Order: sequence, then C-alpha cells, then structure tokens
Amino acid sequence: MNEFKEVSENYTLPEAVREAQRCLHCKVPSCKKGCPISNDIPEWIGELAKGNFGNAMSIINARSNLPAVCGRVCGHERQCEGSCVLNKAGKHINIGKLERFVADFDCEADLSHEAIPEQKRGLIAVIGSGPAGLTIAGDLARKGFKVEIFEMESEPGGVLMFGIPEYRLPKEVVRREIKKIQNLGVTFHLLTTAGRDFTIDDLFNRGFDAIFMGTGTGKPKKLPIPGIEHPGVRQAIWFLRRVSLYQSGLIDRKEVIVGNGDKVAVIGCGNTAIDAARTALRMGSSEVTVIYHRTVNEMSALRAEYDEAVAEGVKFMWKSSVVEIEGGTDNRLRSITVDTEGSRSKMEVDRVIMAVGSAPASRIVSTTKGIDVDSKGYVLTREAPYGMTTRRGVFAGGDVTNRPATVVHAMQDAKRVAEGMIQYVDAKRLMEKLDADEISIHNQ
Ligand code: SF4
Repeated sequence: MNEFKEVSENYTLPEAVREAQRCLHCKVPSCKKGCPISNDIPEWIGELAKGNFGNAMSIINARSNLPAVCGRVCGHERQCEGSCVLNKAGKHINIGKLERFVADFDCEADLSHEAIPEQKRGLIAVIGSGPAGLTIAGDLARKGFKVEIFEMESEPGGVLMFGIPEYRLPKEVVRREIKKIQNLGVTFHLLTTAGRDFTIDDLFNRGFDAIFMGTGTGKPKKLPIPGIEHPGVRQAIWFLRRVSLYQSGLIDRKEVIVGNGDKVAVIGCGNTAIDAARTALRMGSSEVTVIYHRTVNEMSALRAEYDEAVAEGVKFMWKSSVVEIEGGTDNRLRSITVDTEGSRSKMEVDRVIMAVGSAPASRIVSTTKGIDVDSKGYVLTREAPYGMTTRRGVFAGGDVTNRPATVVHAMQDAKRVAEGMIQYVDAKRLMEKLDADEISIHNQ
C-alpha cells in the first residue's frame, strides 16, 4: 500500500441534507454537551437540513476556527456522536461528516464572508501555529485584537501540518483553514524560532500587550530499553514530519528512512502510534506490528482509527513490551525481544518507531525569566486570568501545559485562554489610559 489519498469520503449534497434531516433537534441536545467546544450542533444541522449552508457555516464559525479539521480528526465517537440520543440505537447522526461537508462546501462555493472588526483593542503575539495557536488567533482577531503568529516551520499548522498524515487530514484542508484565519487579519511570521531568533522580552519591547505560548510538546519521550539509541529506532513524530516534508517536496524519499519492504515495530498505541503504523505501510513497509503493554480496551487510540489500521493489515501485540533492541548493519536493526505476559520471543525487524508520548521542549522557558514549569517541564498557569503563566502577560495553552490530549481539547483550552487574555489586555489598557490621563491632568 502506498496510497495517501484521504480515506474517508465526503457526503454529496443530497446525502448531507438527508442525514441532517434525521436529527431530532432535541430540547436538551446531548450532542452539544459531548462537544468540548460546545458547538451549537442542532442549530447548524437544522440550517443544513433546510439547505441554508451559509447560515450553518456562520453558526459553526462562532464556536470553531477549524471546522474542516475537526470534521475529519475529532474523536466524534467519544464526543458528539457518542453522546447523540440516536446512538442508543446505533444510529447516531454523523455529525463529524456533516461538519466536514459544511466546511468544504462553504469553501468551494465561497459562501460566507466575515466582517472583520477594527483591530485596535490590543496587540497579541502567538508563538506556535498548531490548533491552540490558531484558535487563539482566530478568536482574538474576531474580537478586535491585532494578532501576529510566530512559527518555526516553513508552513503554519504545527501538528495539523506535520503530525497528522495526509490520508486523514489533507494538507490542502489545513492550508484552507489557515487562509481563513489570515483573512481575519492575522499576520504569520514563518521560520522564526522563539528562544533562538527572538525572546519573550523582545516581543514585549516591540509593544505586544500579551503573548501566547502554544508551542506544544516537541520533545519525544524515550523508554529505557537496551539498544534504544540505535539509528534504526526513530520517533513517530520525527517520522511523520519527515513524510510530510517529503510529500511537500522539501526532502528526498531516502531521507524518510522507513519504508520500502521494511519490517517495522511501533511501540505505543495512541493515535500517533496508529498514524505512524498506517503511514509506514503507505511508505511501502512489508509488515507493521504495533506493540502495546496493555489491552485493546485500554489503548488511547480511537476505535475507528484502530479498526481502519486492522483492515489495512497492521498487526497488534497486546500486553507486550519490547525489552531489548538488537542493532544490525546499515543503520538497520536485526531484531527485538518482546515480553508478552512473562514469555519472551524474538522478532525480526528493520525499524522501530517509538510513540510513547512527548514532553515540552524548553527553549522559551530557558530564555525567559519568570516562567515556572512543573517537574516534567510543563508550563504552570493560573485560573485567573485563565492561562496566564507565572510571568505577567505571558499565557500558555495546549499540550505545553499538559492539559489537552487531542486537537479539539487543545482548541477547548485555547478558547478559555483567549478569554483570559482578553480580560488581561482590557484591564492593562484601561490602567495605561488612566495613568496617561492622570499625567496629563498633572501637567495642565
Ligand atoms: Fe440531533 Fe443527536 Fe444532537 Fe439530538 S443529540 S440534536 S438527534 S445530533
């Protein structure tokens, strides 16, 4: 298999309207309760059922900055769809697919044109353009703030662009969502790394009222397995990023390293592990086995992702841990030793991909005074104003604070941080105005 085409098909217009017409418009909609960002699901589904696509989009836009992304990669089975009353009969409304339809249809038909408010309420810097950074930028731009985003990569999107494979989230969809945020007046500075090209203090000196750190968790975790340092062992986020760069034409196929007949073992069973396994198959690996120390019911990957991986030929070993990695020649591995409930076996593999989580990189914190972190390096934040770090005016959200676990949870957290930033900047500007008024009275 080497097909990176998007796996799930979009609805046609009549199919979408028919599906929307199944909605019962419950008085107390449990679907909305199940949505981390409280999307007004029955309202926009109602508009869609009547064929009012532009209205449906406006209602979605009021709660989400990334509907085409959420429609594709959210864990609907555990959220809106899992909570839909019709799910009891196994016939929940396909809310994710409908959201994707509305977002794609709106973009193709160029239906909704948002009025941008004057952006004079404050100047905001956002470091990192993953789901949290984009959400903050979109929310604040819509509320009258001028927002500038600083991104270390050559393209914005963070994990959406470099961490989620093309067959699940096409890059064109991410680019489209980013364009919408640009159209709100948000400026992007690319290939600029905080802590290297500029510091938090530089940004304050340039006049930013508040700064948001949405830099995610770029430092992969390792397990203490003998042989783990061999170059045949690679991190899943490294591998997925390489594949993305290759698909964008920025690196050579051979720099991806994994693929072409390799036997691959993936350690871990979260969504990143499944993404890495399915991507390894698409890059031409002959055999891919996911090794996980717990059971299928305890994996953090979504069931739908797991089912698709099984259908594509990924193998799974449960209650199993890799206890030794044996290196071979040519940067390849020879074998791994796997312990399954006390019994050990050797398995021939060429590559191991690690997907056991990641921790925040410390570049910003180490170049900035006053931002406290916990013992694992996660940034500490306050409840009021929500999301502010121990440094005044510096806010954090998303993975870097260890709160969210998925794209939509990063967005949910970022929406609360955006409210905290608004409170802070409004109060700061008011104080500055009062001080300036007082000085001018004294000078009269
Ligand atoms: Fe419609 Fe299901 Fe939500 Fe009820 S719970 S409003 S049926 S989507």
